[in-house]
Amino acid sequence: TTNSAALFDAARQVIPGGVNSTARAQWSGWMPYPLFVDNGNGSRLQDVDGNQYVDYLLGLGPMILGHRPSGVTRAVVDFIERRGTIFALPTAEEAVLAEKIIAAVPSVDQVRLCNTGTEAVLYATRLARAFTRRRKVIRFEGMYHGFSDGVYWSKHPALAKAGPDDRPNPVAQGPGMPEGVEENLIILPWNDADILADVIGREGDEIAAVLTEPVMCNTGCILPKPGFLETMRTLTQERGIVLIFDEVITGFRLGLGGAQERFGIRPDLTVFAKGLGGGFPVAALGGHADIMKLVADGTVSMAGTYTANGIAVAAANAALDELARPGTYDRLDRISDILREGLEAELRAAGLPVNVVGIGPLMQVWFAERPIENYRDAERHADQGLFRLWWEGMLERGVLFHPGAYENLFVSTAHTAEDIVLTLRAA
Ligand code: PMP
Repeated sequence: TTNSAALFDAARQVIPGGVNSTARAQWSGWMPYPLFVDNGNGSRLQDVDGNQYVDYLLGLGPMILGHRPSGVTRAVVDFIERRGTIFALPTAEEAVLAEKIIAAVPSVDQVRLCNTGTEAVLYATRLARAFTRRRKVIRFEGMYHGFSDGVYWSKHPALAKAGPDDRPNPVAQGPGMPEGVEENLIILPWNDADILADVIGREGDEIAAVLTEPVMCNTGCILPKPGFLETMRTLTQERGIVLIFDEVITGFRLGLGGAQERFGIRPDLTVFAKGLGGGFPVAALGGHADIMKLVADGTVSMAGTYTANGIAVAAANAALDELARPGTYDRLDRISDILREGLEAELRAAGLPVNVVGIGPLMQVWFAERPIENYRDAERHADQGLFRLWWEGMLERGVLFHPGAYENLFVSTAHTAEDIVLTLRAA
């Protein structure tokens, strides 16, 4: 037996499910036990059995600068040693961080910090409902916006209950939907502008927000069809609906200005987490001053003992400084393109039906004959069994990425040409 297996056995006695991380649900069914981590360094991760991996999991995305990036590490250690662990009172650096986010993301006039993407989404929908005095929120099949009861359920609705493609059942749901949530949530297939227009046309006056990832990252990195985000922006603007971009994954990753910079769309509110902290837990939401001011006058409350703690702010300030260095995103894009094209070429050469879809340092390998367009399409056309076989083989050869067919490979600024070569050889 391995150290990971032994640790898992011991942990299960004291921790229900054996692990505190989200890994439990994701790994079970794929492996008998999760890998227990010893350490990470740059693009590499080492488990407790001494196995080294080129890491494209990156902690589900926060380690955009790789593990232990020197600037962030130094900033955090310095802060603790010189200033302590400051909670619940402001530091001068909070506004500095807000200014950096505003400068990077033009649709953002003002910013509030919090601790997780889940909280940031919760606040954004709360703000939208207060601003519009409406209740309903449109979201999309196959997206994930955190684990709060209000939006979590039905990330992956059963297709049987989701309705036909041209007439989706807008309240298709997953198991355990809390009472009362369903009537305020409208769940639609993504990348279908006609259905969106139809629903907004009929129910627009009751809809507070359209909540979307600008690139669908929680069903394996699906790009918006040309014009889809533009249509979404126009439709929401016409009916006074708040457009919320969940850039928890894309923010500070597809560029300093996130996906909205790439696609040239200005949402009303944007949610950030993951990459923002460069490996440290911190999140934020920001947007139009008219909406954000509802926090200042107490219409919408936000809280949290750990919110904007000094360490989180120091980490995010340092992460944004590193990311803002000239050439960061050009290099990230270039190395990711090589990986994406290389993976597709290698797997096709082996005679496998494969499409590697993505943008910048985000991608997913779809074992499918053609590119996947949305969640319904993935359920029907992607070969998850083949993905699993390939994932296991890659893990054995020292390449780690998320075991879920609906997830992403993340590339960090720490990945090197050597990592890419090693990965392509393993493929
Ligand atoms: N939104 C998106 C798009 C996400 O991918 C995630 C996390 N994977 C969240 C929100 C929730 O963020 P957190 O895990 O920090 O609560």
